[in-house]
This record gives sequence, structure tokens and C-alpha cells, in this order.
Amino acid sequence: MSIKLQEASGKVCELCMSAENLSFYNVPPDTYPDNEVMVCITCLSQIQRQQPTNSSHWGFLSETMWSDKQAIRVLTWRMLDRMKSETWAADNLEMMYMDDDTQKWAEAGKDTDGVLAQVVHKDANGNILQDGDSVVLTKSLDVKGSSLNLKMGTMIRNIRVVNDDDGQIEGKVNGQLLVVLTKYVRKQS
Ligand SMILES: [Zn+2]
Repeated sequence: MSIKLQEASGKVCELCMSAENLSFYNVPPDTYPDNEVMVCITCLSQIQRQQPTNSSHWGFLSETMWSDKQAIRVLTWRMLDRMKSETWAADNLEMMYMDDDTQKWAEAGKDTDGVLAQVVHKDANGNILQDGDSVVLTKSLDVKGSSLNLKMGTMIRNIRVVNDDDGQIEGKVNGQLLVVLTKYVRKQS
């Protein structure tokens, strides 16, 4: 019966072995091969800092630190490093063997896992845009559904980036909230 169940459910989280809500996570940065691991939503949301790191969830790191898979050792090291103010995590970090290559990978993404997972907005020149920035239009644009035409050079102050779309920002022009494509704006410093 249990064998059948395993066959049916197939995979489990490569960290905590949960079979719930699995998805693939590419251990950043992308320059390393074989960086894909299958993780559950509980692990993923904490890895990506969408949820606070809850150390009571991560006791299994003392086992995954011996994994044959490099990406798992990298993830294990990073999570232990985040919790190293706690004795158990510091002890495991100390005990953990990391070859140079794995250590380099682990440190390359340290503290940026969450940042890399977020959507990054860039202007026409590749500068990163953030909430509160001011931009100017690099192109004259018609506003859909209105007679409004925005001239090239129009300034939009105090923009907001659209969280789930790296190609869009929002901002007010003449009191009207508009969505503008990031490729048509240039950040003002
Ligand atoms: Zn998990």
C-alpha cells in the first residue's frame, strides 16, 4: 500500500520531504549547472523570504548538509547561515564540509535569494526602477481609451512598479493613474 502511494505521489520536497505543493526552484545565481531542486511551498516561501525564516521548520538541514547533490548543500548552507545566531545552526555550519566550488556558489547567492526571486524593473537604459522614482518618457504615447497624448519628455513622478510584471510601472499624469511600459521611460536621477 505504501509503495503504491509513493508511486502515485511521485516526488517530494528535496529538503523537508513534504509532498505538498511542490515546485522547482533554481538555486541562484543561474551560472551554475544542475541548480534545479524540487521544493515544497513551505521551504520555498522561506528561502525566498516571502515568509519569515522559522527555525523550527529547518531541523532537517542537519541531514541535507550531507546530500550528494551540490544544489541541496548550497541551499542548506545558506539557510544555516541565515540562522547562525542559533547554536544548532552554527554547530551544523561548523561541521559542514564544503569544497571550494560549492562554497563559492553558496556565498555567491547569500542574502540575495529573495532579491533575485523578485521581479526587477528596468528602464530603457537598463537602470533599475523602484517605487518613488521619477521617469521621463522616451517616446510620445497615446493613452488607450482616452484622447490623452503624452509627449516625449513628459515627467512622471513618484512611480510605482507593478509587482507581477517587470515590463510595467504606474504613475500619475495630470492626476490620472496610468500604466506605462518600462521600455519607454528613462529614470531621472
Ligand atoms: Zn520542503
